[in-house]
Amino acid sequence: MYLKSIEVQGFKSFANKITFEFHNGITGIVGPNGSGKSNVGDAVRWVLGEQSAKQLRGGNMQDVIFSGTETRKPLGFAYVAITLDNSDHKLPIDYQEVTIARRLYRSGESEYLLNGTSCRLKDVNELFYDTGIGKEGYSIIGQGQIDKILSGKPEERRELFDEAAGIVKFKRRKNTAIKK
Ligand code: ATP
Ligand code: MG
Repeated sequence: MYLKSIEVQGFKSFANKITFEFHNGITGIVGPNGSGKSNVGDAVRWVLGEQSAKQLRGGNMQDVIFSGTETRKPLGFAYVAITLDNSDHKLPIDYQEVTIARRLYRSGESEYLLNGTSCRLKDVNELFYDTGIGKEGYSIIGQGQIDKILSGKPEERRELFDEAAGIVKFKRRKNTAIKK
């Protein structure tokens, strides 16, 4: 499984619709300060369900919507879609390719889409359990996060190991069963 593309429109500094294409290897994103490199990472975090504006370096969630420049009006919504190659079926879904999308309007209205069909955030979360990819996974390591992991509580570190060992889904199911 690997990330094939990221499509952004109206997300942070990306007003126009653009698509970043990736291949099964290493890609570096380079550019001057403030050109939007970190915004690409934020886009991936956001589409995977990040609910904390602070994690996305904003004050509130609407801050991810393109807020305009001297020459360009603000936009009314933010949209991000990521497409993953799933030909190895690491994601428990019967598709070779999986596209997760999220859209947010200034009104606060928002939606998630899984291969074009509206879905819940819960569905997005469950799809990525134990893959390391979800927003709590270890596939996105932000600035300062290594320090946080090293100096974190043992229980927090344990969560990372659980995810890597692939047992998060069993723990969640157990907790749900106990609640019922
Ligand atoms: P550095 O090298 O300093 O880490 P960077 O390439 O990672 O820089 P980013 O932090 O990704 O840069 O981008 C910051 C830019 O994104 C700033 O110019 C900021 O004005 C712009 N930006 C952030 N949110 C929005 C928004 N909602 N609308 C328009 N522009 C935005
Ligand atoms: Mg940066």
